[in-house]
Amino acid sequence: MRIAQRFVTLLAILILAGCASQSPEGRYTIIDSMKSKGQNSRIDMIVLHYTAGSKTSSLAVLTNKDVGAHYLVTDDNPPLVYRLVNESMSAWHAGESSWYGRTYINPRSIGIEIVHPGWERNVNGTMGAPYPISQIHTVTALTRDLAKRYDIKPENIVGHSDVAPLRKQDPGPSFPWKELAHDGVGRWFDENAAAKYEVEFSKKGLPDAKWWQAQLKRVGYSVPETGVLDANTRHVISAFQMHYRPEWVSGKPDVQTAARLLALPTTGTGLTR
Ligand SMILES: [Zn+2]
Repeated sequence: MRIAQRFVTLLAILILAGCASQSPEGRYTIIDSMKSKGQNSRIDMIVLHYTAGSKTSSLAVLTNKDVGAHYLVTDDNPPLVYRLVNESMSAWHAGESSWYGRTYINPRSIGIEIVHPGWERNVNGTMGAPYPISQIHTVTALTRDLAKRYDIKPENIVGHSDVAPLRKQDPGPSFPWKELAHDGVGRWFDENAAAKYEVEFSKKGLPDAKWWQAQLKRVGYSVPETGVLDANTRHVISAFQMHYRPEWVSGKPDVQTAARLLALPTTGTGLTR
């Protein structure tokens, strides 16, 4: 058999075996039987948001404006889960953003919007409405499924405010990150270590601005390394507090925030299971 004939025979066998397919116009054949070792999913982050609106207004914005999210979890009881963008597509949810020094997060992430009115600090220090338990259970289940499916590291399950701390405040300080982490979703700090560090910081005093900036950067945040506790650095401290010390979001360095920051693992040692 001549080489050309052998090739045609081989292709015919591959096509019959389901390992090859013809291009739409039959101009070439794609062989699917060999795979590269060097590959991973293009999705390696999940970003959680609140919509700051009702279900109706949230659906209207997410289906009519130039914004998008893969999923919308409503505040119905039980909550509904709308898939507004297929997971294979990039949704326009994070905007200008950065995490662990990598920018342009939309193409590598799944965006989940949660119907919630948002939060504001008022004279009573109110942090916004609590999220209904059924809604949190649904968000947790959805996030866990996605994290398992895409093998997403715990530290890469974040809030919009974590990846855009100068612009965004969602999902806000009433979002129960600790509960999610204890349910096996996302990253949390070592509480025993934090208690020990808190005593130490109380004795020796708070670290300087350079320390805060280096530590916030270590755990993923984009932070200016000016060595000065400027307005932008305070915004990033606020974002950290919203996630890990939501009891009081001040944007000011304090002993408890420093202790929790130091006790937060850099990578790979979170709780997702
Ligand atoms: Zn958002």
